[in-house]
Amino acid sequence: MKLPNINILDEKNKVLRQKSLEVTFPLTKEDKKIINDSLRYLEMSQIEKYIEKYDLRSGMGLSFIQLGIPKRIFVASDELEGGSFKRYVFINPEIISKSEELIYVGEGEGCLSVNRDIEGIVPRHARITIKAYDENGKPFQLRFREDLAILCQHEIDHLNGILFVDWIDKKNPYKNKNLMREI
Ligand code: ZN
Repeated sequence: MKLPNINILDEKNKVLRQKSLEVTFPLTKEDKKIINDSLRYLEMSQIEKYIEKYDLRSGMGLSFIQLGIPKRIFVASDELEGGSFKRYVFINPEIISKSEELIYVGEGEGCLSVNRDIEGIVPRHARITIKAYDENGKPFQLRFREDLAILCQHEIDHLNGILFVDWIDKKNPYKNKNLMREI
């Protein structure tokens, strides 16, 4: 399999700080292609032989703004047992409910745009319900928990120009750890 030709912006690029704009339907052919390429890239980045062959960093989610396109779209690819992937496409996503319980990734969050080691944790809601549109403009709602809930919050932050590092208190990177559950 050939690696899709996509160029992920680094955190130093100011474009990542833009707030992305609502998308109107139908999607353009180009947008559909970028959605497919991004999903394939994420999947290849989770498969050992491609990680080695192309020297990839693994990622499960990617927002259009990380490719320099300020549109409210993100995709996710979740590896299932048996090596297949569940694909998600979220257009104009909105979190419509969230749990009070907070969680954090114990080893720290990662981002394909942040290419350095980051010390610290990010508080996230343990469960969320998202309303969004699919590629055909059809609305849907999905409820997520644990790692997928974190992924969606991380990606929606991207659409608002926020990076996960922004949430980390530099002086106290493990602030409020005791008030949250580690996953
Ligand atoms: Zn990210």
